[in-house]
Amino acid sequence: MIRIKRDNLNALARQHYINVESFAPKLTERLEEKSKKSGILQSFYKQLFKDVKLTNGESLLISTPEKLEEKIIEYTNTFGFDFSKNIYKTLRRELQKVFDYNGYAKEYGYWLAKELNVNVCPYCNRQYTFTISHGRKKIVRPEFDHFYNKKSYPYLSLSFYNLIPSCSICNRLKGFKDFSIKKNIHPYLKGFTPIAKFETKLTDIEAIWGDSDKIELLLNTGGNPLIKKNAKIFKLEELYNGYGATRKNNVSGHRDYVIEIIQKRLIYNSTYIDELFETYQGIFFKTREDTVRLVLSNYVTEDGLEKRVLSKLTKDINEEWGLI
Ligand SMILES: [Zn+2]
Repeated sequence: MIRIKRDNLNALARQHYINVESFAPKLTERLEEKSKKSGILQSFYKQLFKDVKLTNGESLLISTPEKLEEKIIEYTNTFGFDFSKNIYKTLRRELQKVFDYNGYAKEYGYWLAKELNVNVCPYCNRQYTFTISHGRKKIVRPEFDHFYNKKSYPYLSLSFYNLIPSCSICNRLKGFKDFSIKKNIHPYLKGFTPIAKFETKLTDIEAIWGDSDKIELLLNTGGNPLIKKNAKIFKLEELYNGYGATRKNNVSGHRDYVIEIIQKRLIYNSTYIDELFETYQGIFFKTREDTVRLVLSNYVTEDGLEKRVLSKLTKDINEEWGLI
């Protein structure tokens, strides 16, 4: 998990609000219309209308994850709806229509993806999630995972901080699992660093000569229960190693890549890196880290982690094997 750090999130969230409200009829108008119902539904829609409408810079559409969770608790305590249950299927579907995530995604999905500029999946750091379009021609963009899933929380399906750009594998693995910031890591708030680290476990020294069956990749979660849970849900060890629990039909996953990092560590020792840096300083390299990045073809500094796939793995293995 790589944290999504951006300086302009608040400004983007405000523009997101304007985009959502540009639909006709506006979301707030749709909620106001639904408030004409009677009984508990009237109260619920009235509350939603009040919470969605931008008042004093606050709206459910741009609230922070902490505030979204306060709202979840407030709604649950006040109205007692559990939209994940079948008996609320009709109301859930109605809310999904009112919030119309699919309509929003069709109109503004590329805008949001382009503005966020998240080019590697924050959940797995294994897949590129470029946004590419030519004029009106849309080619590819990340999917948006709903941190608070659309089934249980349909009224949060357009909330800015609930839309996490991610790869389709992670989006599918997460599915409708019930996430919260107390139990799970929210990519806008935290990442794995500096607690969790990938480590290697060699069953035989032959791994170093290229036998990927003799090496295993482990994610040391540092005893953090949130990271542990996250790694389990997104199947990180399985995907990085390329095998399931039984090791049947195994592929090398990213173990062959790790062996290359170790081999490079042995060839390009610290003295060699120093020499390369001194020779090409000012031409190819500004810092010594630039030299290591060139050797490993990946970023090894904290701020570079979101730029390339497998950067976290590269950084950790590099540190484990001493190429710093
Ligand atoms: Zn992913």
